[in-house]
Amino acid sequence: MGDFSGKSVMVLGGSRGIGAAIVRHFASAGAKVQFSYSGSPDAAAAVAAETGATAVQADSANRDELIAAVAAAGPLDIMVINAGVLVHGDPLTLDPDAVDRLIDINVRAVYFAGVEAGRRMHDDGRIIIIGSVNGDRVQIPGSTAYALSKSAVQGIGRGLARDFGARGITVNVVQPGPVDTDMNPAGGPMAPLMHSMMAIKRHAHAEEVAALVMFLASPAAAMITGTTQTIDGGIGI
Ligand code: NDP
Repeated sequence: MGDFSGKSVMVLGGSRGIGAAIVRHFASAGAKVQFSYSGSPDAAAAVAAETGATAVQADSANRDELIAAVAAAGPLDIMVINAGVLVHGDPLTLDPDAVDRLIDINVRAVYFAGVEAGRRMHDDGRIIIIGSVNGDRVQIPGSTAYALSKSAVQGIGRGLARDFGARGITVNVVQPGPVDTDMNPAGGPMAPLMHSMMAIKRHAHAEEVAALVMFLASPAAAMITGTTQTIDGGIGI
């Protein structure tokens, strides 16, 4: 896992699922970790109590609140932009307000948080965005809104990699396939269909995604930037 002692880390959306696993990994590796949450204060308090990380309530859909929270975190070494929502269904009938909110959280917040983190980040810092394999491929109907958001963050990652590269800051997008969380439970109704398309026929564990994030955050990954790193069990290869 490596030694992250003395490193200042912020994880957006750290109260549950993949984000909570990332908080646990960095805290175990000695980092000073802050994480944001919005709708799950009890889960956030439990993760904070377990790990010693600091929980900050900040709704990624609220631009001013989000930017203020990132600015208040101080100069960071590592920013992980994980907070995201899934809105799934027929685009002909999907609630437009829900789609707008998805774009606020999955796209606009990624841009503004990435910029604000980079503004005050130490040289040789790391920005890691949690995208999705749906940024590249769409296996299941009803994924248009989600897929557009995860394709958009690829552009944010490549752009910020150029903008901050002269300072040694790397920016990469991690693209999971199915991961067993509240968003996409391994026992959910869509799981058999997903597994049928995978080479490794199971959901990933959140810890497996966190391990990839830790590698990208490490000194060993200093020359990896502007990339998408897919961790999807071979769905759609
Ligand atoms: P979960 O729904 O299990 O957890 C989502 C996390 O994001 C929670 O901590 C939640 O906090 C936080 N969050 C959501 N909305 C906001 C908001 N408005 N402001 C602040 N925090 C917010 O999802 P996952 O862990 O599965 O997903 C994490 C990321 O991984 C997302 O970007 C998702 O798109 C991506 N992903 C997930 C896959 C999967 O199969 N699970 C596959 C591919 C990508 P709170 O509840 O406190 O609001």
